[in-house]
Amino acid sequence: MRKFLIAGNWKMNLNADEGADLVADIVSVAGKQTSVNVCLCPPFTGLESAAKGVEGSNVSLGAQNLHPEPSGAYTGEISAGMLRHLYCSHVILGHSERREYFSETDAFINQKVKTSLESALKPILCVGETLEQREAGQTNEVVRKQVQGGLAEIMASQSEGLVIAYEPVWAIGTGKTATPEMAQEVHAEIRNLLSQQLSEEVANRTRILYGGSMKPENARELLAQEDIDGGLIGGASLKASSFNAIIEAAIELAS
Ligand code: PEP
Repeated sequence: MRKFLIAGNWKMNLNADEGADLVADIVSVAGKQTSVNVCLCPPFTGLESAAKGVEGSNVSLGAQNLHPEPSGAYTGEISAGMLRHLYCSHVILGHSERREYFSETDAFINQKVKTSLESALKPILCVGETLEQREAGQTNEVVRKQVQGGLAEIMASQSEGLVIAYEPVWAIGTGKTATPEMAQEVHAEIRNLLSQQLSEEVANRTRILYGGSMKPENARELLAQEDIDGGLIGGASLKASSFNAIIEAAIELAS
């Protein structure tokens, strides 16, 4: 049985103090329950204050990126060890905004996924097609390439903690959501890919999150799909009221 994971991607929003206030409001609702996993991913500058805010609760902390090398001359970058030092347990990798604005390739993302797994950081590997690709009937092909490329040379035995997020690019921050059926179809395909590339056991235990304009109004229907194991939430994770409502929908479905 896979536990829901509800993860908030704050992107480049909220300073450390604003983030601490949001963390407190989320911990007050989700901090003690154990039926769903909740993870907050502030910008790097908010990690330290967020770490203090989640201490002793069941809310975990994630980063939005890392550099694959352990240290060195990589100005502006952050290593897995630095994230572990700030109590991060998760890291978002290969987000479509990083692929688009920072030209991240599957090969580079693969290095980051390897580093995160070696460092006991759970990677949330993001995959998803653009509108053009969906309209050209290329969704499965694009997602296959991103899953295979992102997980290249990773063995089943090394994949503990792996999370995949299916995020159709056309649904991110646009208010357009994939219908539950559209999302379920791709999630089932991703599980199938995991089974082929890693093992059936890994495919069955790996959580596949949906991301793309998830909000309280559509969360329940999406989370009710067989292969949707949680959400990666951008806009709606910046307000305690909407993020907590999504967590509560997941708690209800889990009980
Ligand atoms: C995201 O960027 O990961 C995301 C899903 O954003 P939004 O919820 O705003 O569409």
